[in-house]
Amino acid sequence: MARIVGIDLGTTNSLVAVMHDDRPKILPDPHSGSPLLPSAVSLLPDGTFLVGESARRRAALHPHASILSVKRFMGVGLEHVDEQDRREHAFDQAAGALRVVLQDGSGGTQTLSPPEVSSLILRELKRRAETALGEEVTRAVITVPAYFNDSQRQATRDAGRLAGLDVLRLVNEPTAAALAYGLDKQEEALVAVFDLGGGTFDVSILQLREGLSEVLSTGGDTRLGGDDFDRRLTALLQEQLGGDQWSAEDLAILRDAAERAKRELSAVEVATVELPLSGGTRILQVTRDAFDAASADLVERTLARCRQALKDAGRQARDVDHVILVGGATRIPAVRRAVEGFFGKAPYADIDPDAVVALGAAVQAGILSG
Ligand code: ADP
Ligand code: MG
Repeated sequence: MARIVGIDLGTTNSLVAVMHDDRPKILPDPHSGSPLLPSAVSLLPDGTFLVGESARRRAALHPHASILSVKRFMGVGLEHVDEQDRREHAFDQAAGALRVVLQDGSGGTQTLSPPEVSSLILRELKRRAETALGEEVTRAVITVPAYFNDSQRQATRDAGRLAGLDVLRLVNEPTAAALAYGLDKQEEALVAVFDLGGGTFDVSILQLREGLSEVLSTGGDTRLGGDDFDRRLTALLQEQLGGDQWSAEDLAILRDAAERAKRELSAVEVATVELPLSGGTRILQVTRDAFDAASADLVERTLARCRQALKDAGRQARDVDHVILVGGATRIPAVRRAVEGFFGKAPYADIDPDAVVALGAAVQAGILSG
């Protein structure tokens, strides 16, 4: 029987995975080898769309043609669109449901609903899976944040349908992470899932019992993620460079370099940053200590949300049996240290934090196919 794939339809990055010899595995981009597909869509002047890495790059210089983080608009109305969103895009709610207006850069526009944008991302993942498996893929398990309401869940199902996928089940992201670690096989456990992605932070307290997972509480901040750490690093670089007039091109170079330096600082103490700016190439160094100092308040904000989530669940940090790290930004050493200190135990981090949700979705897909 044709296989069911597991999909993490993320705010910043999306992935597809499948069971292979009883183990979940990510299906990477056949060309670049990257496991991640940036959740980015960009409209070209010829009316077609770029999806993924090429769209993410185009977005830096053509923000109005491109949409990043469309997940934040799934199943919500205009009242959820904030000022920052409005600066980046025009929105339209004339037909009842929220739609985003993309400008192709040469006078043309296209107006798409968030499920339509998401379906372009899902289509790309479907194609990726079909290339890797050599068969048609029509059935999927897709993950959603635990706090998604009915209309956000329905919008995700709609996106799947538009992409030609039969969505057999939506699974909560923290539950998928617990499945990837096989924690569902334990008789009973209290699990905290700490998920720091690109633009959002989610913490969930789960009660696992006999293979079932109950979400006791969720918390987080839809405006806190790896991007904020990038902004702090960008500011550090700007401070070193001096001056305050930045062209859009130079700013894009700075932001890109900051994101790379942030990732480098997860592995080494000092990162070297090469900036091919319009006024000439500059080479700077940033230390992990400087980065940690500049981002300490962001880490503290995640802990405040953990405190609240525990309170809402009626539990204490010491009641938690397992802590799972999810999201690429949990690779930041200061974040790991803070989580370990807060819960008083080493978190699970053996599985790639940006792949763990998709792997769990594949495990669920495996359970459904028997
Ligand atoms: P989402 O769930 O929002 O789609 P991800 O889990 O893919 O996002 O996380 C993306 C974020 O993780 C980005 O901000 C990215 O810069 C960050 N990230 C990825 N790798 C690292 C690393 N090695 N160190 C620090 N941050 C990282
Ligand atoms: Mg995620």
